[in-house]
Amino acid sequence: MEIHDDKDMFLASYGGQLTAAPYERHGTPLVRDDSGIILERDIHIWTDGSAKDNGLETCTAGAAWTSDLTFHDEVSLAGIPLSNNVAEVAAVVLCLQAWRSAHIVVHTDSTLVLDLVGGGLLAMERDGWRDTPRHFSMGTPTGLKKTLLHLLRDRSGRLAFQKAKAHADDVSNNLADHLANQGRLFGRVMCIDNVALPSLWVDSAPVLAHQPLDYITKMVVQQFVPSPTTTVKFSRFSDRWVVAMAGLFNEVLDPGHYIANVWKINIPLKFQETLWKEMNNMLTLGHRYHGRSDSGRFCRCRTEMSLNHILLGCRKYVLRGLQAVLLERLRRISPSLPSRSLHPDEWGHSPWFPLLALKRLEQGKFYPSKSLRSPNEALSLSRPVREWLIGNYFWQIWKWRMKEIHDTSFNFIPILLEKTLASVLDAAPPVPSAKERTCMRDWKKARDASSDGTAHEQCTAPLENRPVKTKAVPMESRKAGILRALTDGAYD
Ligand SMILES: [Zn+2]
Repeated sequence: MEIHDDKDMFLASYGGQLTAAPYERHGTPLVRDDSGIILERDIHIWTDGSAKDNGLETCTAGAAWTSDLTFHDEVSLAGIPLSNNVAEVAAVVLCLQAWRSAHIVVHTDSTLVLDLVGGGLLAMERDGWRDTPRHFSMGTPTGLKKTLLHLLRDRSGRLAFQKAKAHADDVSNNLADHLANQGRLFGRVMCIDNVALPSLWVDSAPVLAHQPLDYITKMVVQQFVPSPTTTVKFSRFSDRWVVAMAGLFNEVLDPGHYIANVWKINIPLKFQETLWKEMNNMLTLGHRYHGRSDSGRFCRCRTEMSLNHILLGCRKYVLRGLQAVLLERLRRISPSLPSRSLHPDEWGHSPWFPLLALKRLEQGKFYPSKSLRSPNEALSLSRPVREWLIGNYFWQIWKWRMKEIHDTSFNFIPILLEKTLASVLDAAPPVPSAKERTCMRDWKKARDASSDGTAHEQCTAPLENRPVKTKAVPMESRKAGILRALTDGAYD
């Protein structure tokens, strides 16, 4: 194929006017082959960057491209930080800005550029451009790379890249090298801080399936994870809980606020899970029990087995003795205030329900006592230990009853287990004094503020003298996390 008058034709198509570099409008030169048919051909372009004092603050750089149509362009780069790699990328950006609709083949000796256009840019976009600090502005290498990706997308002509051998006998490549040097010294200034990047062409946040991850997470939570309080499964429990709270404490509470507390109260982690299953109506007891014997389906009194039945006892399982052991220990630590929340023996047919809202039920209802700053403080100091005692009491009974169901050699006889229960409950952590609690709070605050652990020093009391952390290990499951977020209104 022979090229005829490509430059003249090009000039003719643009009214014979040609400035230093044809930027805005750029057609594809038409060429004739021997048969006289008008064809489009690929234009070959060589890009190169040049840097002096590479990697230093005094670095100066230039970028250039030249083509087999004799057009060329070269610039002196400004902006920070400059380097040889920045200059190489800038040269390709300069070239793509000039040739947006022509079919071009870009020759470059930069491995970085070839890596970037060969998938590197897409990977960076997917990962959220995390290779350079985000607070840097557009003009940083990240900005330049984003601009390169934009230019690769926003074009109509064919585009190919080829590796040119650096410092070889490739005349065009050497010319590009020479032009880049010229550009560095005498070219007009191209400030890489001011490269224009239109919005919506390049994703700044990490993406998955062309959507930013934070958006996807939000959608998943909103669309596919129903709030437990709104599911049919949960509505049975929610309704019962609201009615029980209203009956016991004369308070109408929104279950949505308190359900997640099951993961926060100071009861054994396994009992938290048991309660969670109970709320979801998923405990394998009663008609959901599929064991061989009937013991999991029916109590000895022939009532259908359920968590509440187990925890309350019945005429065949009188739990009064065990309950006395619990009440005795609760009395020792409870402030003498007229709060029904202090007397689990009066909690009726849903013995553990108030555990979910003890804090709320004990807030701001009583007259100030003289010994402490407020009655709320007295209640709040003993509350974790009270939760611990009640939770462990229930957990022991549950374990014994389960043992009886699954181990035929074991008989649950409450009166024989009072001593065991007493020793279990005597292991309760002590109620911290107000001072210890303040110290604990300061220590926690300091710990949360500094993750390197040095903040331990800020509390004057030695670590071993501080109250034992009574709070059960929070179950950091996804479910709990989402629940917490939902009840905190994070996804509203
Ligand atoms: Zn029974």
